[in-house]
Amino acid sequence: MAYVISSDCVACGACAESCPVSAISEGESQYIIDADVCVDCGSCASNCPVEAIAQA
Ligand code: SF4
Repeated sequence: MAYVISSDCVACGACAESCPVSAISEGESQYIIDADVCVDCGSCASNCPVEAIAQA
């Protein structure tokens, strides 16, 4: 189980800054969460201004 960023992402970067394990990186058109690194803390989801992050 990991969090996933949807296509609603506006690439603001707020999630990446909030991730304690640096699981989030910038992709071609939006940010991406590395499921192998994510520890399911939920910090990114609560920091996303467009609610683009949810548990998969
Ligand atoms: Fe990082 Fe936590 Fe979001 Fe996983 S749930 S990507 S560990 S901030």
